[in-house]
Amino acid sequence: MKHTLPKLPYDYEALEPYIDAETMRIHHTKHHQGYIDKYKAALEGKDELLTKSVEDILSDIQKVPKEIRQAVINNGGGYANHALFWQVMKPNGGGVPKGKLQEIMHDTFKSFEEFKNAFSETALSQFGSGWAWLVADDKKTLQVYSTSNQDSPLLKGHTPILGLDVWEHAYYLKYQNKRADYIEAWWNVVNWEKVGELFDEL
Ligand code: MN
Repeated sequence: MKHTLPKLPYDYEALEPYIDAETMRIHHTKHHQGYIDKYKAALEGKDELLTKSVEDILSDIQKVPKEIRQAVINNGGGYANHALFWQVMKPNGGGVPKGKLQEIMHDTFKSFEEFKNAFSETALSQFGSGWAWLVADDKKTLQVYSTSNQDSPLLKGHTPILGLDVWEHAYYLKYQNKRADYIEAWWNVVNWEKVGELFDEL
């Protein structure tokens, strides 16, 4: 398994004006690359673990030796979380989900607006660095919550289908301390087709 930086499915400037090109470039080439490099460094010499996908490793974290487990949680989390993040955004995104996801979302949250409010509030109130998530479990039950640092929902047996990075490195250049403005803008670039696909694949 080659652990390399995945290509973005769009250009760095494609998410303007909501997410600026400079933030995207640094976030992808420096931050995401850094997590991948440190993940590989943490697993150096552990060939049987390196053959697995990072998602499989995080889903079965007890198999990772204790002395390197926290490094794998941090850097493997950063590796996997960002790989998902790029995929669930696109230029001219936004709108609402369709199909089965829309149905279950309405059953769970009553309406798209209520889901959106819950997610935004979760992202806003995450203290310090972390992520807001829409996750599904093996029964396809949806939940919204946040995690600190780079902790992946995979660690709890949940599959993330939508994630929002609320580390300051994700928004500080354009939004400074105004996390709420970043969150509000971000809804315009959500790729609901992709999120729906991830849900359908479960
Ligand atoms: Mn990030």
